[in-house]
Amino acid sequence: MQLLDGKSTSKAIKEELSQAVEQRKKDGKKIPHLVAVLVGNDGGSLTYVGSKVKTCQKIGFESTLIHKEDTISEKELLDLVNELNNDENVDGFIVQLPLPKHIDEKKVTLAIDPKKDVDGFHPMNLGNMVLDLPGFLPATPAGMLELFKRYEIETSGKHCVVIGRSHIVGAPMSIMMGRNSYPGNSTVTLTHSRTKNLKEIVLQADIIISAIGKPGFLTADMVKEGAVVMDVGITRIEDETKKKGYRISGDVDFENVAPKCSYITPVPGGVGPMTIVSLMMNTLKAMELNGK
Ligand code: NAP
Repeated sequence: MQLLDGKSTSKAIKEELSQAVEQRKKDGKKIPHLVAVLVGNDGGSLTYVGSKVKTCQKIGFESTLIHKEDTISEKELLDLVNELNNDENVDGFIVQLPLPKHIDEKKVTLAIDPKKDVDGFHPMNLGNMVLDLPGFLPATPAGMLELFKRYEIETSGKHCVVIGRSHIVGAPMSIMMGRNSYPGNSTVTLTHSRTKNLKEIVLQADIIISAIGKPGFLTADMVKEGAVVMDVGITRIEDETKKKGYRISGDVDFENVAPKCSYITPVPGGVGPMTIVSLMMNTLKAMELNGK
């Protein structure tokens, strides 16, 4: 069994990105500027946005955090999105989800200029992904593709079972794995909460991507010997023995599943750090796509 180490892989990518920034400086080109918009004080969102901003600083990107109270109106947030769309100094921006209930997330996603949509959530970018056209790939699936590449894992002709069909992870990952490219060319089965005989289906998988958010859901009796397992799940579990009062758990019963796998991602330290560097790679790509 080999660990798919997202921590060390993302570290290597960060070094590559730092070098790209240095080269841009030498060439007199603009430094990438990523803006993160955070609404409210959700603990998870604060952590995610904080590490995105910190990563920008580490690799030499310019970064700005815009933190708004959760009383902000939908109109005010849409006006802010419009301002960022028109700000020449901003190369890419994200609006951290989830948003408070009185704000329509779809409206906000649609309002973001696809050329600055480094999260890759806008329908234009999702369409470009399906058609193999240039654009931004959603960060979490893109991070997993990068892991396949860096560890040179064969995906062609393999049966890939994706568990979970969210618009940001499961659904786009299923499309990417089925595309005629590397990583890709897999035969894909997309499963969800209505899937019957899930265990029988997953047992046939050469590659399992689990993105449901249920700790320990994927057990050893569901996994074929030699399978590749990527665990997207991130769930906080109360744990008084930890300083923060909680620990992070993935969807996979790691201890019992890992010995059966050829490759497996740990949680934490697997898919999570790759998501953040994918966002950075998209921001650098924004410069190229926008001719800067
Ligand atoms: P989500 O919107 O929370 O949806 C969960 C998906 O899991 C749904 O499609 C649901 O099916 C499916 N599901 C739930 N129970 C199931 C079951 N018993 N059997 C089969 N499918 C089941 O999904 P998400 O936003 O992708 O989040 C999933 C997890 O990934 C969460 O823990 C989240 O925190 C984590 N996450 C991690 C990263 C990262 O960077 N590592 C990024 C994003 C999300 P239905 O559609 O039928 O309801």
